[in-house]
Amino acid sequence: MSVLRLARTNPIRAKRIKLAAACRCELCGDEMPLEWLELHTYPDGESLSEQTPAMQEGSLLVLCAECHRQLHLHGITVQEQEALVRERTPSISREITALLSYRPKPYTPPSVDLEESYREASAPNHYRVAG
Ligand SMILES: [Zn+2]
Ligand SMILES: [Zn+2]
Repeated sequence: MSVLRLARTNPIRAKRIKLAAACRCELCGDEMPLEWLELHTYPDGESLSEQTPAMQEGSLLVLCAECHRQLHLHGITVQEQEALVRERTPSISREITALLSYRPKPYTPPSVDLEESYREASAPNHYRVAG
């Protein structure tokens, strides 16, 4: 799943990534309310789906709305963006990577044989009729 799609389909995880970045814009360093922060990814778009979580972590920035706007207005080189990502503390990097690697467990139904439990439930009646 790309980071962009993640932000759209999993707002809770996107929120956790912002929290992992200590609610700070990684460009201006200001602390912001969560809802003012946005996730920026490069290259922009959905092409991140084939990337590993560690690569995705290096491709995303937590930015305030204003810095995000400015960044797109003036453009940013991959090198500049990578330099910003490198300023991240190791603990923040680890936490974001962990959030990106998280896959929800597939739902496994309880191993109950429905026919078996139906037979058990109806057995007393059966015996009453027989006796
Ligand atoms: Zn900012
Ligand atoms: Zn962006």
